[in-house]
Amino acid sequence: MVNRKPPQICIVVPCYNEEEVLRETSRRLQQIVSQLQDSGDIAQGSHVLFVDDGSRDSTWSIIEELAGSHASVKGLKFARNFGHQSALLAGMLTADADAVVTIDADLQDPPEAIAQMVHAFRNGSEIVFAVRDDRKVDSIFKRGSAELYYRVLRLMGVDIIFNHADFRLLGRAAVDALRQFGEVNIFLRGLVRLIGFKHEIVLYRREARFAGETKYTLRKMLALSMNGITSFTILPLRLITVLGFAVSVFAFFAGFWVFVAWLYRADLVPGWTSVVLPMYFLGGIQLLSVGVLGEYLGKSYMEAKNRPRYIIEKTV
Ligand code: UDP
Ligand code: MG
Repeated sequence: MVNRKPPQICIVVPCYNEEEVLRETSRRLQQIVSQLQDSGDIAQGSHVLFVDDGSRDSTWSIIEELAGSHASVKGLKFARNFGHQSALLAGMLTADADAVVTIDADLQDPPEAIAQMVHAFRNGSEIVFAVRDDRKVDSIFKRGSAELYYRVLRLMGVDIIFNHADFRLLGRAAVDALRQFGEVNIFLRGLVRLIGFKHEIVLYRREARFAGETKYTLRKMLALSMNGITSFTILPLRLITVLGFAVSVFAFFAGFWVFVAWLYRADLVPGWTSVVLPMYFLGGIQLLSVGVLGEYLGKSYMEAKNRPRYIIEKTV
């Protein structure tokens, strides 16, 4: 078994309006950093990097204050809110360390699991996925929709790890691989599966939020899930083709059947159902298909602009 030397790690924490949890999060993360440094599992110089994703509360001033009083705390401020995924990416690409760990600011992901992740890394895994062992703390809606979503993604052929969110460790090589992906709309859960490398899974129990409320509005959740699908599969486009073909074949046989009926029975019922129903049906399918096409077209348009994925205003 390969036994890597203790890595210098950087813990990347995306923060959006997290003033209520930030101090406690910082304390817990620094605690685990110094524990792991003392036990010789990670190298000196390991640190925490808070990424302020355009918060409107006092998040940034708390980060500045923490960075001022602790050598192992750094900060990075976005010029506006770019979203969780962009904040994670910025943190990982900015960090200069042997391994990067990404973790939510709200302490739902227990910092203690980082010890296991570092252990797996030192044993030769380039990527370590933290996977939650159950979803007890989630609302029924969140649990149900998440489960359904993972299933749909899998069905569409997107390689994704069940119940793994964005709590993971990436070695420097994996981060450099990620750097090569140019897409603007990122879905890290899917991207990380595309880069390969030896990986390992670490189980953990997800806690309730330490304080504050979820920063993932329904709108943000929907945007993320659409992105997950359209970034990784064109199956919906193919389904349209299949559907169009199936409906055409059906229409052909229906026409044939009407013709035969007409040959044998002169007095056909002049039903409007046979005229109106197919109109609604086909109209619906056409609108849906145009909508799906539009999703992808719109996405290529947005990607073609090649806008920056984030803009850093300042760092501490
Ligand atoms: N977050 C972010 N930008 C956003 C929304 C959320 O950086 O636009 C961060 C947030 O501060 C937290 C993490 O993403 O650290 C996960 O968000 P949250 O805990 O609110 O989501 P939930 O756990 O409810 O899915
Ligand atoms: Mg959370």
